[in-house]
Amino acid sequence: MRIVLFGPPGVGKGSQAQFLSERENVVHISTGILLRRAIRSESELGLQAAAYVEQGKLVPGPLVRSLAEGAMADCNYDRFVLDGYPRTIEQADWLAEFLESHHTRLNTVLSLVVSNQDIVDRLSKRRINRITGENYHLDFKPPPADIEPGIIVQRNDDLPEAILHRLEIYQESTFPVQEYYRSLGLLKEIEGKGTFEEVYQRILTAIMNSLK
Ligand code: AMP
Repeated sequence: MRIVLFGPPGVGKGSQAQFLSERENVVHISTGILLRRAIRSESELGLQAAAYVEQGKLVPGPLVRSLAEGAMADCNYDRFVLDGYPRTIEQADWLAEFLESHHTRLNTVLSLVVSNQDIVDRLSKRRINRITGENYHLDFKPPPADIEPGIIVQRNDDLPEAILHRLEIYQESTFPVQEYYRSLGLLKEIEGKGTFEEVYQRILTAIMNSLK
């Protein structure tokens, strides 16, 4: 089972990939997580990547490539879900070449789709305790009533305008890569609206169909 998962910020892609990895015995390979880990450990690669990640810019491809390829090698080129890689056509080509050189290929590429309005609704209800950093959601996990209201704040990047900007960047940057996979007949779009479990079941069904 070799999968790539796409999804805009706020759709719960990372949590779905994590859940899938626990339930289905696949390795969740998130280049964002691997990069943040490399940065924390102050490895050579982490030091080179730090400034890019801090500014939300794409890290130079060869650095990300070596992390992703190392992680795929660790799981013997199978039973993985890639999250955050590939992000460019060049990376998609590297991935295809890499898998081919190990006599394998992707089974499917899944893209979680949710309307911008739904994402704005979801993310603009997030709140954070500015002292402890704990996250809340006005509908699903409201802050305790006895907390001083001034401590519960909204992150600047969770304001509707900032969310729309992040979505625009996501759409512009992933569009070519998703089209590349569509042209290969590998892309499957999945409705991302609904409960976590509903979306998970759709993901699982799409994966099972791709293995037939
Ligand atoms: P993410 O957690 O996937 O949002 O990634 C966090 C940050 O890591 C991104 O903003 C980029 O700076 C960097 N990053 C993650 N994956 C890649 C990739 N495939 N190519 C380049 N940069 C990446």
